Amino acid sequence: KYHDDTILANVIALVDEAQMGKAPIQRLVDRISAIFVPAVVICAILASLSWMFFSEGYGDYNSTELAIMVLVSTLVIACPCALGLATPTALMVGTGVGAQYGLLIKGIDALQKSYKTNTLILDKTGTLTIGKPSVTNVKIVNAEADNPLMIAASLETGSTHPIAGAISKAYSKDSEQLIIFDKVENIGGMGLLGYLDGKEYAVGNQALMERKGVIVSDTIQDLKEILTNGTTVVFVSKDQKLIGWIEMEDRLRETTNLAISKAKNLGLEVIMLTGDRIETASTISKEVGITRFEAESKPDEKAAFVKKLQQEGSTVAMIGDGVNDAAALAIADVGIAMGAGSDIALEAADIVLLRDDLLDVVSTLELGRATMRKIRGNLGWAFVYNLVGIPLAMGALITSTGWLLPPAFAAGAMALSSVSVVFNSLTLKSWKPHRA
Ligand code: ADP
Ligand code: MG
Repeated sequence: KYHDDTILANVIALVDEAQMGKAPIQRLVDRISAIFVPAVVICAILASLSWMFFSEGYGDYNSTELAIMVLVSTLVIACPCALGLATPTALMVGTGVGAQYGLLIKGIDALQKSYKTNTLILDKTGTLTIGKPSVTNVKIVNAEADNPLMIAASLETGSTHPIAGAISKAYSKDSEQLIIFDKVENIGGMGLLGYLDGKEYAVGNQALMERKGVIVSDTIQDLKEILTNGTTVVFVSKDQKLIGWIEMEDRLRETTNLAISKAKNLGLEVIMLTGDRIETASTISKEVGITRFEAESKPDEKAAFVKKLQQEGSTVAMIGDGVNDAAALAIADVGIAMGAGSDIALEAADIVLLRDDLLDVVSTLELGRATMRKIRGNLGWAFVYNLVGIPLAMGALITSTGWLLPPAFAAGAMALSSVSVVFNSLTLKSWKPHRA
């Protein structure tokens, strides 16, 4: 059920779904425009007709001249250029300035949703930590069997998981000493299985061992202490027998603690989500100041967790790096991938942090907020301008003051409003992530 290709297929479907959308606010603007344009045309015609038939003209103009002027001015001033420019220009400048600081924004939707984000979910391995664990100890249980490190390294040759890197590095003898299996199976979020000469080999966590009928609960009792120190342990088995385990440690990223405290200051609820054991998860989360965490989550459970929070009404930003995070990244309102992450994670995310710096998560959310403020400012401008301009053009002030917006002025005002919206968007160029 957890084969890589099924996960891949799911992820591809999710990414497709996510990428179909426009920015929601743009859809709203489109909907408004769709009503606004015909409404203004009708207003312009009605105003023009009523000046034509129910007035004697005004000042130098006869009623027909007046009607034509009103018609032209109203149509010109109501041209929804500023309204149309408000969103795309701000988004363009926003994504551009983001790229300048290594925040690669792929999903426009996400930039907008970062405005509403109230929950930040972080993966552990490769996100909070550097994702390059190193092996600290190898324990051999069954001295008669093959060397567990050799078996693990052989199984992991095709894997891109950080654990695979650590094991291969620790066992860096020449490849002739690796076993070539007939078949290797990747069980997402659990580990790997290999088959050779009718024997079954496995490397992975407790869940995988139990699935294979290997009892490790006693071992885990003995390992409680190192597990609570934040060490990750993977077991190695051959033919349903434990032959050893490998202990490894990963380092936190330099900016992890700061990034988390900044995220909290932004008012976000911060949650850690990991496939690793509960003891390890608990230690790491305490170390970085996260109070809520979910451990031993398989890839589909990570996605389900995000969905659950969304159903509870949260807007969720999820940040991760692995194949195991991809589905969750795709489902999250704002999916953020570490630049060094796996290809599928980068593909599934809306935003990629090219600098692999966790502080950039906070920057991204702030950029999203700044961009949305711009869009709202722009729309406000465009709206006020129409609200004032259209009645003037329709001749609202003629009878009281004798003043009518001439078509040339209407055209000038329309151009000016577009220019001011573009200019307002351009000021976003000066945005800077504020660092520590
Ligand atoms: P994380 O959320 O910490 O990035 P994963 O979901 O990728 O973790 O994996 C969860 C657990 O499954 C790991 O802690 C490890 O015990 C086991 N596991 C996953 N992939 C592998 C692998 N390639 N080799 C060994 N163990 C693995
Ligand atoms: Mg990870």
